[in-house]
Amino acid sequence: MTPLIRARIDGGALLHNLQHLKSRAPRSRVMAVIKANAYGHGLVATARILQSADALAVARLEEGVLLREAGIQNRIVLLEGVPDASQLEAAARYQFDLVVHEPGGVAMLRAWRGEHRFELWLKIDTGMNRLGFRPEQAVGVWESLYALRPRALRVMTHLAAADQVDGLMVARQMERFAPTLEQIGAAAGRGAVAAPEVSIANSAATLALPGLHADWIRPGIALYGVSPFDGSTGATHGLKPAMRLEAAVIAVREVPAGETVGYAGRWRAARPTRIAIIGAGYGDGLLRSFPDGMPVLVNGHSAPLAGRVSMDMIAVDVTDLPPVQVGDIAQIWGAELPVERQAEAAGTIPYELLCSVRQRVPRSYTND
Ligand SMILES: *Cc1c(COP(=O)(O)O)cnc(C)c1O
Repeated sequence: MTPLIRARIDGGALLHNLQHLKSRAPRSRVMAVIKANAYGHGLVATARILQSADALAVARLEEGVLLREAGIQNRIVLLEGVPDASQLEAAARYQFDLVVHEPGGVAMLRAWRGEHRFELWLKIDTGMNRLGFRPEQAVGVWESLYALRPRALRVMTHLAAADQVDGLMVARQMERFAPTLEQIGAAAGRGAVAAPEVSIANSAATLALPGLHADWIRPGIALYGVSPFDGSTGATHGLKPAMRLEAAVIAVREVPAGETVGYAGRWRAARPTRIAIIGAGYGDGLLRSFPDGMPVLVNGHSAPLAGRVSMDMIAVDVTDLPPVQVGDIAQIWGAELPVERQAEAAGTIPYELLCSVRQRVPRSYTND
């Protein structure tokens, strides 16, 4: 049975992208970021394919638990840490690395009476103002965490604009991070321990800022073959797109000139028009904000969206295409219709389109 809509995931492309990023940062280890259902690619299946990564990263405990329950034994980092003692208990049981990013996290660890010794990532806020300790607090926090004898204590920061070519924000963040690292290194030296391992780079920094690769890179979007930069596609950077979202034509109809198609009659036929109805809608992860004219590929030919995205369907104008039949396949995005371009047409970023793909959409995995 062929499903009406499916996301075909190319495992070979995922592995190619992992290798490619490793070759770009040969001295760094790779923390493969698979939060948000692996950016829509399927959490557990993607983790299995990317097993050779040095660590996997998710946002939350629940995602890590799904991985462990599926038998994944890799190092797993919880990028948002844990919010309370019950989750800390679970994090110990499941052997998760924790990001410590606010004072409550330190207090919780101080109160920890379990056997387990955590591996910790101290997050320093160098200008994103989202998670992390301010640089002037960092050494103090590092010392208090170190005193708790964690199994490992590493340091990380996150870049707010690594994709911007002018690099101004990156420079400002590194002006804060470099001296902070020096102070932490000095504190470590006084305690006769090695300076901690450091992680800075997301996909954009991995691809464009080799000076920031440090000990651990943390690519997300690039693993999926998608460019983190506006105006380019993954292929520009040697990456292969891993997801093809495709759906079947479920009806073909002739619409007389002057009639409208879909909810609220947003689209009106300027000529006698052949419309193909495709079984993919916002209930699958397409966005209701997709504009008229945004293309999909029907049998490999570009066909413009005609009317509002419905919950389970879209309509496209196939008047100028070779004859289209029920059962023909439309590509919503994929190698021939990059998700970066689709995101641009929809006024968003590829991250949002990819992780919008719903659970009800079957994923199939190939490995070539
Ligand atoms: C999501 C995330 C990443 C990956 O970002 P990409 O732009 O997808 O490469 C890296 N680090 C942290 C802390 C993240 O939350």
